[in-house]
Amino acid sequence: MAKKGKLFVISAPSGSGKTTLCRKLIRSFSGKRKLVRSISVTTRRRRSGERGGGDYFFISRGEFIKRRKRRQFLEWAGVLGNYYGTPRAFVQRHINQGNDVLLSIDVQGALKIKRMVRRARRPSAIFIFILPPSFGELERRLRRRSTESRAEIARRLKFAKSEMCFVKEYNYAVLNDKISRALARLKEIIRREREE
Ligand code: 5GP
Repeated sequence: MAKKGKLFVISAPSGSGKTTLCRKLIRSFSGKRKLVRSISVTTRRRRSGERGGGDYFFISRGEFIKRRKRRQFLEWAGVLGNYYGTPRAFVQRHINQGNDVLLSIDVQGALKIKRMVRRARRPSAIFIFILPPSFGELERRLRRRSTESRAEIARRLKFAKSEMCFVKEYNYAVLNDKISRALARLKEIIRREREE
């Protein structure tokens, strides 16, 4: 029987460079044993430049609730007024095929996965938190991105502060002061954990 894959759960405050890092990471592990990114389902409105089915699957609240009732999500959470969920079937299929799956989710979702893994002896999961160099830099990055209003940026910064309190729940904390350095560290973590 093929060896099962692992779950790599990454959390990071919005604007910490997580999306870029995850994209680069996926590209680096495209060999026989792949690292695949789970595309979440969300009720949030699409930002300009985002692609349905590429960044997220964008659905209505009604549809989200229907899927949640059918237990189609491995985990789900309400984040800043919107719902986000990880499609269960996709993750299970890849884990069973021996691929590793990358979940880029918030702290609430990561803690749910942590409890699940503990309870049900599911495939092992590794938890990584990406830290921005500072709040000032986080704010600058969010402003530069200019996809959110001022009020939304303020909410995201407040949320980021509350999320940072949970860094101790993660196996690794990676500082994203420089993309190339953070990427190298993430690759090293994945290689090491694959060998375990
Ligand atoms: P954004 O709206 O900036 O894309 O994401 C907001 C937050 O929701 C981020 O912390 C992101 O990691 C998180 N998120 C995205 N997808 C999921 C998911 O499927 N589950 C959970 N729990 N959080 C998610």
